[in-house]
Amino acid sequence: MAKSITPQPGILDIALYVGGASKIEGKSDVVKLSSNENPYGPSDQAKEAFARSGLQLHRYPPTDHAHLREAIAEIHDVDADRVICGVGSDEVITFLCQAFAGPGDEVIHTEHGFSMYKISTLAAGATPVEVPERERVVDVDAIVEACNFRTKLVFIANPGNPTGTMIGGNELAQLADRLPPHVLLVVDAAYAEYAEGYDGGKSLVDERDNVFMTRTFSKIYGLGGLRVGWGYGSQDVIDVLNRVRGPFNLSVAQIETAAAALRDLSYTEKCRADNARLRIWLADALAETGVQSDASSANFILARFDTPDEAEACYEWLRDEGILVRKVAGYKLPQCLRITIGDEAACRRVAHVVRAFR
Ligand code: PMP
Repeated sequence: MAKSITPQPGILDIALYVGGASKIEGKSDVVKLSSNENPYGPSDQAKEAFARSGLQLHRYPPTDHAHLREAIAEIHDVDADRVICGVGSDEVITFLCQAFAGPGDEVIHTEHGFSMYKISTLAAGATPVEVPERERVVDVDAIVEACNFRTKLVFIANPGNPTGTMIGGNELAQLADRLPPHVLLVVDAAYAEYAEGYDGGKSLVDERDNVFMTRTFSKIYGLGGLRVGWGYGSQDVIDVLNRVRGPFNLSVAQIETAAAALRDLSYTEKCRADNARLRIWLADALAETGVQSDASSANFILARFDTPDEAEACYEWLRDEGILVRKVAGYKLPQCLRITIGDEAACRRVAHVVRAFR
């Protein structure tokens, strides 16, 4: 880059994203438990819709995503006009920062919060403000105290990634009520489907216009490779976000496949139930070896070792056995490893290898 060509202030503060590895050299049967993917993949209905969408490749997609928004409205009991779809919920997070935060503004994220909040804040020219959590759980008081007249957005992941913990509906409502009126609370509910009886903050959005919810097809729907997410908020917020959204941000394949996945309720329910059962099983199996984890409401657990060195050593040990998990030192959790709940065989393999390691 020529010296006179310079990026906006803040851009060089963004660390280049180093994704989790998906391969281990010399191993063909890798068990990938590093990206919180659904081990069973998408439903058959979703796969069929994806295949059919290939017949329309020469046509631009509809700009309003009406088919997908209507499916979302039907399944989630929301108003289709108040839904926006993006290339993963990552893109919805980006829209929020682009549209609501700029130079001089602050955006709050929590200590162990998902990395995209900080990246999108810096990319928008705004200042990310990190707020402590309490024992790996979002701390409502700390968030309220950190707000000032410059604060524009507060991002919390509920359930959290990489913690897996969540705050209850009452606490979420209290947070929304205690924020200054100029602050939009974004409830990132990427893992909501795994938390039984939780609506992802949907009812809060219905009741208040200072709350926004983001959701994804990358987790329980098994469509991480497709890249589709959505957001639900007040009509005014959606109207603002649609101004920064490119007209053709989603392809026909994305729209049609996600809509089909949504309607396959029995498949989603099976994935949820399997995850809930294996999550408890794996947490118990690790606890028997002395490796603790917080109660998780997501499709992963955060295994806590005695020291950062021990976590690193266990990561290597698992890797040598063909199992990839996620190091989370970048999330200020160097003593921990995040382990996605795989299928039954994968969970048994993890437990076996950690037992041998300890
Ligand atoms: N929010 C959280 C908390 C996540 O863990 C993820 C994915 N890791 C996302 C948002 C983004 O998901 P996607 O862009 O695939 O929808």
